Amino acid sequence: MRVTFLGTGTSVGVPAVGCDCETCLSDDPRDKRLRTSVLIQHRDNTFLIDASTDFRQQALRAGINQLDSILFTHAHADHCFGLDDARPLMFRHGPLACFATEVTWMGLRRIYSYVFEPSPYPGLPRIVPHRIEGDFSLFGLNVQPLTVIHGRLPVTAFRIGDFAYVTDCNEIPEEACNRLLGLDMLVIDALRFKAHPTHMSLDQSLGYIGRLKPRRALLTHISHDIKHQDTSGHLPADVDIAYDGLTVDV
Ligand SMILES: [Zn+2]
Ligand SMILES: [Zn+2]
Ligand SMILES: [Zn+2]
Repeated sequence: MRVTFLGTGTSVGVPAVGCDCETCLSDDPRDKRLRTSVLIQHRDNTFLIDASTDFRQQALRAGINQLDSILFTHAHADHCFGLDDARPLMFRHGPLACFATEVTWMGLRRIYSYVFEPSPYPGLPRIVPHRIEGDFSLFGLNVQPLTVIHGRLPVTAFRIGDFAYVTDCNEIPEEACNRLLGLDMLVIDALRFKAHPTHMSLDQSLGYIGRLKPRRALLTHISHDIKHQDTSGHLPADVDIAYDGLTVDV
């Protein structure tokens, strides 16, 4: 299975509009972060975890010409506003299977009410909604949805084989921790150095990495507080900051 980071930035992206901090002005391509999402390729199938606000740009950049499914972590704008931009792929290949928990569907139905209501317009997104209620199989992969806490919102993390994707949370409950042991790769939220009410600080992420002991870990959903080059070298071995365009095989 191949994982491509389409975006690794926090909800406003990096550079942030109107900001002239050192990271936002950096020439390092690893400091240019579109909104957080990954593309997963497994044999002949391709799917996303989240359709970010920047999906159109990400899809053109990564040369995505086929998409079989989207798994949604939650319905915050930065994770689902790209669904509409997947329409050309839907027009070409048919409706797209979308997986989300009922809490996330409630948000998606509100944001995308025009998709769910009768309409005279032919150009609307075409999706097949699937409600996540437990482990399921996707293209021969075993997908384990796990609940993590994002302020007060339950967010879905995904363990797929020995890979796990845990974004947008400030707490990983015991039950999810128990199912995140023995990983080859953990991707985990690490917003910034300072504490935040709904995201992990770098120290919190490193704390979970120390506890879960994956073979490798990559940090994502990064704000402009973290400049890649200044921080990357100070992380423990086998932990690094993900960046847009990075591809890893798991
Ligand atoms: Zn987010
Ligand atoms: Zn900045
Ligand atoms: Zn969020």
